[in-house]
Amino acid sequence: MEKKRDKERILITGASKGLGYAMAELFATEGYDVYANYNKHCIELNSLVQRLTSSGYSITAVQADVSKKSEVEMLFDRVGSVDILINNAGISQFKQFLDMTEEDWDNMLTTNLKSAYLCTHEAICSMISNKKGKIINISSIWGVTGGSCEVHYSASKAGIIGFTKSLAKEMAPSSIQVNCIAPGAIDTDMNSSLSEKNKRILIEETPMGKLGKPADIAKAALFLARDEFITGEVINVNGGLYI
Ligand code: NAD
Repeated sequence: MEKKRDKERILITGASKGLGYAMAELFATEGYDVYANYNKHCIELNSLVQRLTSSGYSITAVQADVSKKSEVEMLFDRVGSVDILINNAGISQFKQFLDMTEEDWDNMLTTNLKSAYLCTHEAICSMISNKKGKIINISSIWGVTGGSCEVHYSASKAGIIGFTKSLAKEMAPSSIQVNCIAPGAIDTDMNSSLSEKNKRILIEETPMGKLGKPADIAKAALFLARDEFITGEVINVNGGLYI
């Protein structure tokens, strides 16, 4: 008789809303053992956890500010080893470069880039010993093309791409795949500060004529989680906004 396969364990950072929440929901309903990280707000995530666990799925909410080393260490003490890590937590800020303070810069780079280093550093030792693992990083179209009035955000997301490609090369002999997704404009709170006019312009500039949905990114992440040979790639999920 075929041995029942253990559920793969996955940690998704920044899962209280937006893309992280959609990924947590999709992976749980696809049968993964999901650890959904949140920092401050957990009301919606807790109701997702309740809804899914009562239907027999495996999902746990875990608090940590992933920009802080001590909190990331505590997070992994709680979660243990994982087969898949999705570095998704992130912030954005629209500001002209000359108005950008050192604090703005540090906050952006620490939250969007250092957090990926901290979480990956914790997750990777067990992946190396298991000779198996997947790291999926969430970059951005602006990390590929550069975004005006988002120099620090774009730098952090371009950093994620360099991080992904370098780590992919280093980890490939251990059968660990490292990839990233570069979403285009997706309809989440991150874009809620955009004026209706700017939203309309973004939609018009997107050849598919619409904003993406969080589920579009979740499906791309699931594809990467299941793949066995892609590594060091940037998957653009953007409706044709950048090709
Ligand atoms: P969102 O604002 O809806 O969600 C961001 C999530 O990250 C939230 O759950 C927030 O609590 C969490 N977070 C922020 N700082 C954290 C910290 N220090 N510790 C733990 N969690 C933290 O935004 P989103 O659109 O869902 O963005 C998710 C990721 O996708 C981000 O990395 C973002 O840069 C990237 N992205 C989004 C878009 C878009 O158009 N929405 C486009 C490209 C890339």
